[in-house]
Amino acid sequence: MKALLLAAGAFAAEGSGVNRNFRPGNGVDAMSGINIPVGPIVLLGAPGAGKGTQAKLIAGHYGIPHISTGDILRDNVARGTDLGRKAKRVMERGDLVSDDLVNGMVADRIKQPDCDRGFVLDGFPRTVAQAEWLDRELAAKAGEKKPTVVVDVEVSYNQLLQRLTGRRTCPVDGKIYNIYLQPPKTEGVCDVCGTQLFQRVDDTEEVISERLKSYERQTKPLEEFYQKQARLRCVNGDQPVEKVMADMFRAIEGGAAAAGSE
Ligand code: AMP
Repeated sequence: MKALLLAAGAFAAEGSGVNRNFRPGNGVDAMSGINIPVGPIVLLGAPGAGKGTQAKLIAGHYGIPHISTGDILRDNVARGTDLGRKAKRVMERGDLVSDDLVNGMVADRIKQPDCDRGFVLDGFPRTVAQAEWLDRELAAKAGEKKPTVVVDVEVSYNQLLQRLTGRRTCPVDGKIYNIYLQPPKTEGVCDVCGTQLFQRVDDTEEVISERLKSYERQTKPLEEFYQKQARLRCVNGDQPVEKVMADMFRAIEGGAAAAGSE
């Protein structure tokens, strides 16, 4: 942890550049957003920015699927599929799996009928080539009329490290804890089902450092890619989860409204 903290200066940590030009939507205070047609939502942000947590909340609120490319890949690795075997080593090193493999995986998933009202992508796109592919794929997708809303979750470098090194997950219900920030009631076991929590193999210091480097090199340019097209909405992810969530809903609905009126 210390070594990574010392490296903090090398990382271009963003401030809390919250875009306040959102048009307020009606989903923040509403009981549920399941009647709001949302369309595709892309969550950008460094590993550990809380995309997974926010994606689950968004998916629950709007009644749309949460598509995490990391989860789909880990599932393939666990089941020993062809795709899993190809991805395993790359993931263990903290590198990115090839665009072809990941694009194919996403293409299959977003064709499913549960994606018709919208879906939230967590961890995809991660390269400009993936983003360009996604735009083409969605333009060609029959019935896809809603514009894609892109939200960037900005978190300072030290927060990222604490979130990544402290992350522990329940293998049964997927509940995510953090030994520093949100520990379980009993050390090492899930509050809900009592199962032993595990640490992801790529959440070790050495791999985290590689993942953050690959984020800087390959994924950060996506901010400029979407910014240039005036499609980027930013949320300050250094705040408590509920505050990030409220800002996120405003970004999504303001983003959708603004994009829809263009
Ligand atoms: P995540 O759970 O999103 O942090 O992803 C875990 C790992 O899966 C990453 O470090 C990559 O090796 C791989 N991965 C997930 N999504 C992508 C993607 N869009 N492109 C390439 N590799 C990915």
